[in-house]
Amino acid sequence: MSFRDIKGQDSAVNFLKRAVENDRAAHAYIFTGPAGVGKSLTAVNFAKLLNCSSESGEKPCDECSSCRKIGASNHPDVFLLKPEKEGSSIGIGRVREVIKNIGLKPYEAKKKVYIIDGAASLTEEAQNALLKTLEEPPSDSVIIFIAESIGDLFPTIESRSQVLKFYPLKVDDISLVLRKVYKLDADRALFLSRLANGSPALALKLNEEKFFERRSAVLKGLVDGSFFDSDFEGLTRPIVRSYLDMMLAWYRDILIAKAAAGHCGLLLVNADKSDIIEKEAGRLDFRILDDIIRQIMLTGSFLEQNVNLKLAMSVLGANICTK
Ligand SMILES: [Zn+2]
Repeated sequence: MSFRDIKGQDSAVNFLKRAVENDRAAHAYIFTGPAGVGKSLTAVNFAKLLNCSSESGEKPCDECSSCRKIGASNHPDVFLLKPEKEGSSIGIGRVREVIKNIGLKPYEAKKKVYIIDGAASLTEEAQNALLKTLEEPPSDSVIIFIAESIGDLFPTIESRSQVLKFYPLKVDDISLVLRKVYKLDADRALFLSRLANGSPALALKLNEEKFFERRSAVLKGLVDGSFFDSDFEGLTRPIVRSYLDMMLAWYRDILIAKAAAGHCGLLLVNADKSDIIEKEAGRLDFRILDDIIRQIMLTGSFLEQNVNLKLAMSVLGANICTK
């Protein structure tokens, strides 16, 4: 995937292109913004751009030996550092290897690139060690920190880095990526884009049969009132999160349908279920819908804390009236 495939991040991408054109690339960058909106992809393509050996045409060319090696993650001068598994930290040992390596000449690149993906996982000790490198940066290296929030990194690292912000994508941009790059059909692409909270990565994660089966079961349960009869065994936080997202999208659809009185087809997340949505819009009044949406959002905010998931779902079931 190339710069061309990154949608909705024009300001960051253009900034990086200009920096390379003017030979003014910084020694350290922080790419910050929500998960799954293109930060890692931009970092890899920036590494290609810094090292592309094409003499003509658009850069990165994606065809020269350097671009191809970086694209295949086997360039000897481009390094990716990330937590070994979800939730684990990047400790001082791995960062010391980076620092040692930064001191060496590149094998073949113009610029060595170190991408630290998941900078929030760097331990305090590791961040402190990197700070020394940022104070005296070698001219042939670029470090890119990828962080969802700028607060994940010490202010001292922030002050020595160029910060670039990344944003949630518009529904149309996500849908375009899903159709053009991942070859999804238009209906599925649009549906997933509307559920994805601005993140193409989340849309792709949802694009699996199990998700569609689960969604059908949840929506059926919400309509016939049986959803909260479940004993909710074996819940995990991501499953509860996905239930809440589905419920929120569902009741917002009903609210939109009610407000638009039959002229809402294109606005619905669950456009394929518009006939059931219309029926529910006729059955539930505005006050009840408003209350249900509030209760779902409240449960969502509890999820950030360490709540008992089964209890949270039971309380939600007791507090909302869908009859
Ligand atoms: Zn190239």
